[in-house]
Amino acid sequence: MGLFGYPVTHSLSPAMHNAAFAHLGMDYCYVTFSVKPDLLREAVTAIRALDLKGVNVTVPHKENVVPFLDEVSEEASFIGAVNTIRNEGGMLTGFNTDGRGFMKSLSETGIDVSDKKVLLEGAGGAARSIGYYLCKEASEVCLYDAVTEKAEQLALHLNTLKGNACAIDTATFKSGRFFSGTDIIINATPIGLKHDDPVPIDISLLERSHVVSDLIYKDTPLLQAASERGCRTMNGLGMLLWQGIFAFEIWTGEMPPIEVMRTALKTVTRNE
Ligand code: NAP
Repeated sequence: MGLFGYPVTHSLSPAMHNAAFAHLGMDYCYVTFSVKPDLLREAVTAIRALDLKGVNVTVPHKENVVPFLDEVSEEASFIGAVNTIRNEGGMLTGFNTDGRGFMKSLSETGIDVSDKKVLLEGAGGAARSIGYYLCKEASEVCLYDAVTEKAEQLALHLNTLKGNACAIDTATFKSGRFFSGTDIIINATPIGLKHDDPVPIDISLLERSHVVSDLIYKDTPLLQAASERGCRTMNGLGMLLWQGIFAFEIWTGEMPPIEVMRTALKTVTRNE
């Protein structure tokens, strides 16, 4: 197994998958493959040639890999991106476990979205994958992106699922009017990856009742500020863990040792 990305050097996935294989005594290993964008087709062909059981796919290949696969699951097809490929005798099927992973990490922390209004900031690949589930399960989803047309396009697409997603315009977002009535705020932008990044929302609008989630693996300036204001917070490590657990199940047909994978992830992030 492995990970196709460019770059992939800082991936946390080998640590959690290899810990699971070792724990179960499985004769597999998980490695990273630095795949240049213009060689993606050849890399996908190599999955068959090398008889790899499957791979994960990350930035910048999640969307571009789709045409090279034999089959794509319903959710990956709607999302338009694949993060997991299974190889069954040369037949390559694409899945997207990111959104399911995020939803599982939310429910694991005791957060039920069924009667909640959610603000999803960012309308890129990660927002598409979690929006797919939020639109089915939350009572209302509002999208905001630095590029308003991107949020509107995603809202239109998601509205074909259940009809309860809506785009909000920049002015409404910036005025803070949107925040009243919102239960969960999710940062699905890359803002916060760098130490000196700004906080992507106006912190003064946060109330103790807000749950604030960031898809970034570590505690970002947003999560630190939200925590100081008494909000419940959640970083992206749980999403990473659960998307990996679902991928492991797809490849092996077996449930992996969840706590072994969780500990491996925590250890590797502590040592970073
Ligand atoms: P992406 O495709 O680049 O999408 C990010 C989106 O956010 C883009 O549409 C971007 O617009 C928009 N944006 C940038 N700044 C913004 C702002 N200030 N306000 C509103 N929108 C803004 O990235 P992605 O693949 O979706 O990833 C997003 C984040 O999720 C990354 O930090 C990634 O590491 C994380 N992630 C985590 C997991 C996990 O397992 N925990 C999985 C996947 C992704 P422009 O294109 O115009 O810049």
